Amino acid sequence: MTDYISTPVVQSLIALQEITWFNPKKMQFDEVQSKLSLQMSDMLDASDRLTRFAPYLAQVFSETAVTNGIIESELKAIPAMQRALSDSLNLEIPGRLWVKCDNQLPIAGSIKARGGIYEVLLHAERLALANGLLKTSDDYRACDLEHFRELFSKHQIVVGSTGNLGLSIGIMSAKLGFDVTVHMSSDAREWKKALLRSKGVNVVEHTADYGVAVEQGRQEAMQKDTAYFIDDEDSKSLFLGYSVAALQLQKQLVEQGIVVDKDHPLFVYLPCGVGGAPGGITFGLKQVFGDHVHCFFAEPTHSPCMVLGMETALHNGISVQELGIDNQTCADGLAVGRPSAFVGPMMDSLLSGVYTVSDDNMYRHLAMLVDAEGIPVEPSGAAGASGVLRILTEGHDYLTAHQIEEKMSQATHIMWATGGDMVPEEERKAYYQKGKALLEKGRGF
Ligand SMILES: *Cc1c(COP(=O)(O)O)cnc(C)c1O
Repeated sequence: MTDYISTPVVQSLIALQEITWFNPKKMQFDEVQSKLSLQMSDMLDASDRLTRFAPYLAQVFSETAVTNGIIESELKAIPAMQRALSDSLNLEIPGRLWVKCDNQLPIAGSIKARGGIYEVLLHAERLALANGLLKTSDDYRACDLEHFRELFSKHQIVVGSTGNLGLSIGIMSAKLGFDVTVHMSSDAREWKKALLRSKGVNVVEHTADYGVAVEQGRQEAMQKDTAYFIDDEDSKSLFLGYSVAALQLQKQLVEQGIVVDKDHPLFVYLPCGVGGAPGGITFGLKQVFGDHVHCFFAEPTHSPCMVLGMETALHNGISVQELGIDNQTCADGLAVGRPSAFVGPMMDSLLSGVYTVSDDNMYRHLAMLVDAEGIPVEPSGAAGASGVLRILTEGHDYLTAHQIEEKMSQATHIMWATGGDMVPEEERKAYYQKGKALLEKGRGF
């Protein structure tokens, strides 16, 4: 094996230790902005497309009627969680902690409702435009009419998923009338497969992990020219769908009176699987807030694909399995062994860092969030909770280098809660009890 294996970071990953990694390649935003392969205009284009579809979504998914068809979640202050985290390490947490409640996003109950639904809508729009059924100035509620459904029913949508992406793409595609197939990895929960089948989605179960499920989906889609493959490992459209969250967060921060500038840093902690969701949001937040936002990804100790790819500079050219890391984690939404092809390279210049979290700590923070704030998330959705502690305990050099060490009492920290709303009650209870038992075993994690 080659040299990179012997670096301390890679050795710690192999040893399944929790690490906090600060990205040595991060650059000032104005130095990289013009070199990025995507720009603000791409994000605005995605946002406009979602706005065009909003009346349709409000009509066909009644739970989106309250936001007029815009897929959005609350930003909430979580002072009791902040205290609980502070007590857990006996560490003062200056500034304020918030949660972005993507665990409650409508339609799919996870962050995947952003990217997944967006890419399906993009494809539907392209088909409808090309077939002369639609103009971009039309009322998109027309998409629910019989002749649209008839067109879409002649087209296939295929995706590979660990569960949540399949839910979001399956539900949206079936609603429009597409012939949709979801290839589910072995991590996928039973209830997710059952739910999709109940909506008329074809579910193919695999005994192997996410990478294999994606590959099988890709192969299937290649057999037919009417099939469209949503490639979670390399999709700019998914990425842009996620990025729109940044524009919405910007508005919410203004509404809450939260300032983000050189004296008021913003820290955002994003759970990472293949990297599309956290990468898209990071891209968007950098466009909006530039150097004043500091984005960190959170990965399971058993699936640290993004930090491995970035640290070794091999990106999607290396998988955690090649190092003997098993990719077995309770965080099914993050159980990915190889990162997206284009997200890692883009994150090289934008991302502040990545930290890894043990399954036990995800469970603990899941239970803590329920006790403190009454917010239920799935294990993946709890990975962002550790972020603020990591920055305060291990971020000294980072904060000094960015001249914000003295500004931390004015900092805003956002843990991005990425999923959980659709978890059945029984599983939700089991998650909670597991975390609660771990919390009672002791402090200092
Ligand atoms: C998919 C997912 C993520 C991460 O998104 P990626 O695009 O795979 O990085 C985070 N949390 C949950 C709950 C997810 O389902």
